[in-house]
Amino acid sequence: MSDAEALDRMRHDIQYLASDRLEGRETGQPGERLAADHVVGAFGTMGLKPYGDSATYIQSFHFAAEPVRGPKNSLQLGRNRLVPGVDFYPVSWSPSGQVFTRLARCRYGILAPELGRNDFDGVEVKDHAAAIAISSPDGIHPHSKWIAHNDIRGRIDDAVKLGANAILLYNDDEAVDDIDSTLSAKVQPCPVPVVFVTKSGFKKMGLDGEPVVVATDIERAQLTGHNVVGLLDNGRPDLVVIGAHLDHLGYGHDGSLYRGEPAIHNGADDNASGVAMMLQLARDLSAMPEARANDYLFIAFSGEEKGLYGSNYWTKHPTAPLSEVNYMINLDMVGRLDSLGDLSINGAGTSPAWAELKRIGTGKLNVKTSESGIGPSDHTSFYLQGIPAVHFFTGSHNDYHKPSDDEDKINYPGMLRITRYIESLITALNDDGKLAFTRTQEADSTETPRFTVTLGVVPDYMYDGKGMRIDGVTDGKAAAAAGLKPGDVVIKLGDHDVADMMSYMKALGAFKKGDGTQVTVLRGGKEMKADITFK
Ligand SMILES: [Zn+2]
Repeated sequence: MSDAEALDRMRHDIQYLASDRLEGRETGQPGERLAADHVVGAFGTMGLKPYGDSATYIQSFHFAAEPVRGPKNSLQLGRNRLVPGVDFYPVSWSPSGQVFTRLARCRYGILAPELGRNDFDGVEVKDHAAAIAISSPDGIHPHSKWIAHNDIRGRIDDAVKLGANAILLYNDDEAVDDIDSTLSAKVQPCPVPVVFVTKSGFKKMGLDGEPVVVATDIERAQLTGHNVVGLLDNGRPDLVVIGAHLDHLGYGHDGSLYRGEPAIHNGADDNASGVAMMLQLARDLSAMPEARANDYLFIAFSGEEKGLYGSNYWTKHPTAPLSEVNYMINLDMVGRLDSLGDLSINGAGTSPAWAELKRIGTGKLNVKTSESGIGPSDHTSFYLQGIPAVHFFTGSHNDYHKPSDDEDKINYPGMLRITRYIESLITALNDDGKLAFTRTQEADSTETPRFTVTLGVVPDYMYDGKGMRIDGVTDGKAAAAAGLKPGDVVIKLGDHDVADMMSYMKALGAFKKGDGTQVTVLRGGKEMKADITFK
């Protein structure tokens, strides 16, 4: 397809996908379905074979929606009826349920024989509501003697094992944050009702043995996400998967770095750009004689932003044999090529054949590769199945995961250069047969230091220079208040040198909420200091 026509098509696709009409394409919402339908229409026009469920382009998968509180939450302590949302609220660990029981105060609920402490000793826990304070005898901080027991879920599980039929959490420590009232779909509920009793509610709590009536009402709905799958069938044994996620953050919530009234996150770069490039590759590869060496499976994944749901589902329920997949190309955020032509390609360690990436001259790109097959996007799902997989990425920016990731900031000529580069790459790999797979070195996560404060930044996990490079800055958090920007490299926090992610996390561990210090960053190669207060 001519360059002018390709530019036009990609612009047309992004303008639609990143329009307000699609409301940020949140998985399971109507806008995501519109985006999927758009891809279905494009695949149909190109004559790709439907390769989703039962001879359609769509592959559906189900996932848990964010839970919501129902109307029937209630708590009675003795004669006191507590007010839902004011005196108490059910938390993520809670199922829906109702219990008539009696109070058993269990202090911190810490069962630590190794440290000679058992808060359940001498308390009648069985068939009682266990009241547990969420702090610890010496508070919650990285140097607490009870650090191994700071995790509340572990204490809840201990109480349940001892026969508790409800859990009442409360907080009598000013220095500790209350349990978050937002409910998360990612938390596995435990078997008995769990509520957090606020300060006002705690005043109404009586003595051991007083009657407790607790009812929790949490609606956990199933939602449906939609992958779109189409095959360009050249009758070849080898299958090349080209994928891009079509979902984004909807009106914000989880994953957004924007702190304000709910607003549509259009996600033009993340990842309407990847979908548009995938569609363009499908059009081009249909017409290129040298592309006939492979079959191509084009997949628009959903659920990526919620945790790679769609690509994980496809690799676990593949609609084409995984054994035939030669390699996978993931396009996620490819719309912001800068003036230097910097293109990041992650996953270059997943096959020796990716040495080719540096040899392709097409597009005059400044290709930077990183080895790991594990990263925050859909190629990870393929890598974990033993498939060589690379992720194309033009880099993060200030609009990342914010409502301002809009279409007018897309670099279309840049996208075309990358498209041509990928076409050259695919052609160059034609003679290589099936690519060998290699496992990549992952950072050792077993000894992740604990910390209780954050800078409010997204670290650039691909950065391998000295220090911690910032990929994104969360509005309203410590780093934003100190004027830090994406691209800044943190080299010092207070007196602590920051050489890499590990020492960065260790340095954070030295601070607690409310602490102030000086952060030293490199910006454009120049050292800069800023005062920072951890919130
Ligand atoms: Zn993305």
